[in-house]
Amino acid sequence: MNKIHDAYLTFKGIYKYQSFLKKSRFFSEEELLMLQSKWLRNLLVHAQKNIPWYSSIFREVGLNIYSSNPLDELKKLPILSKKDVQNNHGSFCVPGAADRSVKFLTSGTTGEPMTAYTSFNQWELEQGLIWRQWKDAGYKFRDRMGIFRSYAPEENQPHIKLDRLRNWSYFSVFDMSDADIHRYAEYLNKWKPSFLRGYPSALNLVAEHALRFGWQLPSLRAAFTASEVVPDSLRSNLLAAFNIELFDHYGQAEITSMFHECKKHDGMHVNWEYGLVELLPTDEKGIYKIIATNLHNFSMPLLRYDTGDLAVGFWRNCDCGRSSLKITSIRGRQDDYLLMSDGSKTSLVNLYTYFSDISDIKRFQLIQDRPGELIVMVDFSEFLSEDKLEEVRLALVNNLKAKTKLLIKCPKSPKFIQSSQGKFSAFVQRGKSVI
Ligand SMILES: [Zn+2]
Repeated sequence: MNKIHDAYLTFKGIYKYQSFLKKSRFFSEEELLMLQSKWLRNLLVHAQKNIPWYSSIFREVGLNIYSSNPLDELKKLPILSKKDVQNNHGSFCVPGAADRSVKFLTSGTTGEPMTAYTSFNQWELEQGLIWRQWKDAGYKFRDRMGIFRSYAPEENQPHIKLDRLRNWSYFSVFDMSDADIHRYAEYLNKWKPSFLRGYPSALNLVAEHALRFGWQLPSLRAAFTASEVVPDSLRSNLLAAFNIELFDHYGQAEITSMFHECKKHDGMHVNWEYGLVELLPTDEKGIYKIIATNLHNFSMPLLRYDTGDLAVGFWRNCDCGRSSLKITSIRGRQDDYLLMSDGSKTSLVNLYTYFSDISDIKRFQLIQDRPGELIVMVDFSEFLSEDKLEEVRLALVNNLKAKTKLLIKCPKSPKFIQSSQGKFSAFVQRGKSVI
């Protein structure tokens, strides 16, 4: 998609917000069920006619596309895994999908990337919904926004890039040393942004820097994050450093569902206009698999798709007046696990909790290259003396050894891994399971 087409769809998305999405967030449960049923029926009819995978599976499970209750009918389908889609990719796409869609690649940190196609009408809706969250936070077109994501400058390019049309400044998240952030802070102080947007890991480095060196940005009104799990410390750091709240957003490259945080900052609302979401229980209490069906993607419909992500907490209402339900938060991927030397797998949850309780750590990343071993990259607080730092590092290694029964390595000069877009994951699994 070229820039002009992208801008055109964004503009149409804003129109969709003005004409529909602004009101639809307050629709009654009855109204939203009626609309979801109508959209789903259209999609099922289309899928049966034009998408080979569904033509055969609808017949197999006896799914009636003209049923008066398509929402129930949908449940006849088995859960769709990423593997199913990868192994049968062509049969999920409408003919000529590549020419009539926006194309995405799912991230491949723990597996093979997958191409996902999204029809233009769905992309408009996506833009409209993002716009709606920004409007909730008080954003107006051309308000200044400092963006800490997506910008990966070449060697001869500057670390800061200004988009004059939108009034957005992009900062390289590959260059986040203290000296780099000093330069960013000088720029931001002069430029006076109203909003920050970025990966949680990058915004946390900016907020911590501001707290350590005592600089402020009184022009700021809110921050927007997406793409990574939000660490607990980010909200308190943003509040302490800049006196602003965070609005988190969740979506996936497969475009099956989207969640947004509202002004109450107490959980994530599902965007009911976008997709249907089912929460399926896991072995862990209060943790659910997010199974989603986009309602408008005619290029590559994924019905009852297992997103691989986990929800914390079951559906509940919000007192902000929206009709859509919310969950507490989104947690990392369900396939995040440690591989033991005997090939068995262990959950990472306890380790995240352990790290969140240590105050001398600015940033950490766990990397597993082979079963039985774990590399722990840690940026320690610079307020630690050299002796104290060694003591903390040793205690960390010993504690983790006892907790995980793995061989722990904690290099003195940590090398953090980021995706090609600069995204930072707290855990990177590069080892192969031996079972
Ligand atoms: Zn709410």
